[in-house]
Amino acid sequence: MRDVVDARAAMISRVVDAEWLEVLSVTGEPSDGIVVGLRWRRTDLGRLLSSAEHLGRLHLTKRRAVSYAEIPGDVPETERYIAHHLGLLIAPLSTQDDELLGILATEGPVDLLHPGPGTCELVELYAEQARLALSALRDQRRLSERLRMSYAAQSVLDAAAASADLPTLLDGVVAGVGQMVPARGVWACAELEPGVHTDAAAVPSELAQRLGPDVLTLLEPMLHTCLRSGTASTHETETVLGRLAAVAELDQALLTPIGDGAGTRGAIVVLRAVEDPPWTTDELAAAYALGLRLGTLADQVRGRRRDQETAEELVRLDEYRRDLVASITHDLKTPLTAIALNTELLESDGRLAEAGSHPVAAIRRSAERLASLVDDLLAMARTEQQAGALVEMDVVAMMREACDLVETEAALRGIAFELEAPDELWAPVDPTALARVLANVVSNAVKFSLPRGRVSLGVSRSETELEFRCTDEGIGIPSERLETIFDLSRRTPDSRTEDLPGSGIGLAICERIVTRLGGRITAESTPGQGSTFTVRLPC
Ligand code: ADP
Repeated sequence: MRDVVDARAAMISRVVDAEWLEVLSVTGEPSDGIVVGLRWRRTDLGRLLSSAEHLGRLHLTKRRAVSYAEIPGDVPETERYIAHHLGLLIAPLSTQDDELLGILATEGPVDLLHPGPGTCELVELYAEQARLALSALRDQRRLSERLRMSYAAQSVLDAAAASADLPTLLDGVVAGVGQMVPARGVWACAELEPGVHTDAAAVPSELAQRLGPDVLTLLEPMLHTCLRSGTASTHETETVLGRLAAVAELDQALLTPIGDGAGTRGAIVVLRAVEDPPWTTDELAAAYALGLRLGTLADQVRGRRRDQETAEELVRLDEYRRDLVASITHDLKTPLTAIALNTELLESDGRLAEAGSHPVAAIRRSAERLASLVDDLLAMARTEQQAGALVEMDVVAMMREACDLVETEAALRGIAFELEAPDELWAPVDPTALARVLANVVSNAVKFSLPRGRVSLGVSRSETELEFRCTDEGIGIPSERLETIFDLSRRTPDSRTEDLPGSGIGLAICERIVTRLGGRITAESTPGQGSTFTVRLPC
């Protein structure tokens, strides 16, 4: 263009923001000081244009003009002025909706008094090219800025998703939002529980002292406006936000809700100083979108926290229950022993025997039954309290020991044991727990056997499992009872076995123990023919 109009110099400046223009390109011999990168005020351009003569869309000024410029480097204030050569031909470059993008200008000397119509047309043609280029440049900058913001927003969201609780989430948000949009301060707050307690975080941390969590109440109506209009609010539309910024000794404020239309759960406030750039529409949109997604994440984090608290509460309750069972059963033991001893004394009294000692025998049987219940409860409390370590044991020997415990009773009733097992079989087991289960199953087999019956025991080991079997030829278990014998809450008394000693909860305890060890206990039975109990344990 410089060649076309035969000017000394030509240059393009672009609009940086509301205040500044920046020289993008220069050719020829411009006035002293005009270089690429130099910033000059839009007000100076305004003055130039208002005093210029209009030539169609071009502006012509023949007066000497002085502009203030931001010159990089250590330049004294007095030298920060450029005096343009006489004569400037300026083509403002604007978008379709009249937003100024920049200018294309030539500096004299050219025959400015009479630029021919052909010259003006040519300049306008060049101006159109420059306008397109500036507009493309602006779109490109905007796009890359959006991209940068969306990456920054994503990392805020990633950090939020990984947060263990809401305070951590808020700390991550205030740290991350400052990376997303230039800010002097970021404050964020959220309700830990709806309507209950609100927590706030801020960067820099002094900001948190100036803006407390109760600010959320003040913001509430503005947050609803944001949600209704689907965008963040600023101090320009909400005067309260300007006052809020002033509390933090800043000037510009942006507010966006944390949460979606279903209700706000918190808010983010971003603050800037008066000399900082004003909020762009892209920044408002990015902050609003971030707030919406954070709302969902905050709900998830809160839900996770609640689940964890419930789990901790359950563990505490379970510990309490175990302690209670252990201490009560322990306390029951002493009076029961006293009852047992005293009934023995009563039974040995000859006079009572003569009178027929029915009631005393009944007391003794009840006491024995209670004693075995207490024993079982104590055993259950013990197995629950201490998960035993696995020890390499000969499980065949353990089965024999279980038989030894009921040997006298078996011999009295002519019941024989049969053991189908290798001489020894070593496997890692919890010895106390397994001994308890085997003793219970074997003693039941003897107890519910008919006289001169046979109890067959077996143990085998596969690659992954140890399997114990105990089969008797006793009274068997009716199928409807078979379903409930392992279930503490569904046990029903069995009229056929009520008079036999036992607590009625031994199998339920066995089932708990075996489950804790990662195994299973099952029973098969045919009433009148006998029962088989199988215990499988991982190994
Ligand atoms: P108990 O101390 O009464 O034996 P258990 O929990 O060990 O309590 O057994 C529960 C009930 O299951 C027994 O009372 C009995 O009715 C039935 N039962 C258990 N084992 C056998 C078995 N081998 N044969 C028949 N009935 C059995």
